[in-house]
Amino acid sequence: MRRGNSKIKLLIGAGIILFTLFQYYSKSEVNEFTGKKQHISLTVQEEVAIGLQSAPKMAQQHGGLYPDQNYQKFVDKVGRKLVNNSVARQTNYNYDFHLLKDPQTINAFALPGGQIFITYALFSKLENEDQLAGVLGHEIGHVVGRHSAERMAKQGLTQGILSGVAVGFDPSTAQGAAAIANVINMSYGRDDELESDDLGVKFMIDAGYNPNALIGVMKILKAAAGPNRTPERMSTHPDPENRIEKIKEAIKKYQK
Ligand SMILES: [Zn+2]
Repeated sequence: MRRGNSKIKLLIGAGIILFTLFQYYSKSEVNEFTGKKQHISLTVQEEVAIGLQSAPKMAQQHGGLYPDQNYQKFVDKVGRKLVNNSVARQTNYNYDFHLLKDPQTINAFALPGGQIFITYALFSKLENEDQLAGVLGHEIGHVVGRHSAERMAKQGLTQGILSGVAVGFDPSTAQGAAAIANVINMSYGRDDELESDDLGVKFMIDAGYNPNALIGVMKILKAAAGPNRTPERMSTHPDPENRIEKIKEAIKKYQK
């Protein structure tokens, strides 16, 4: 009886995994702005809706918006210039740039669909307009690259595989699978960062900014992380040093 039971469980588990894989791989499309093949289950409209819906919450988590309208206008100006002069303008996203009040967390991020944020902590560390263009260009890269939507689809894949494993195998195996799934997620995160750096360089050049300023941003991030930062392979963000090499390659590629 026990043997038969575990065989059925194994079959159901395998079925869940196969179904999940099928769902994931059947939703494949080529990103027309980056040329990259992606697995995405959201439409552009859904991405925009999710971004608009989550934006107030994101702002709240960072102490709300920065009160000085002059700084906010400056961020808008640089963001607009990048969008209007690059391929980002041809997308169906609504780009909004938000300066957040947070004076402690050195960060910038993008929600799907075009909602882009930079904290005052990072903004205040930047030395010139080109560096701000570097930060915003990188974030626009995440939007155009549809990285959030891609990660959401992958999370669905991970969840499906994990539940399949949990049904079909013993818990120790499920743990092993969870570890593997984590590694997959991490490496995708790193690829996203590098692609956004690459796109950021392109957008900067298109808009007339000095792309070398993005290297300056990396140095600021590195200094902010301090000497005890997490080793690169443990982190979702590639080491700034590693990113600098790739940024230099991108500048060579796009600058004529
Ligand atoms: Zn990023």
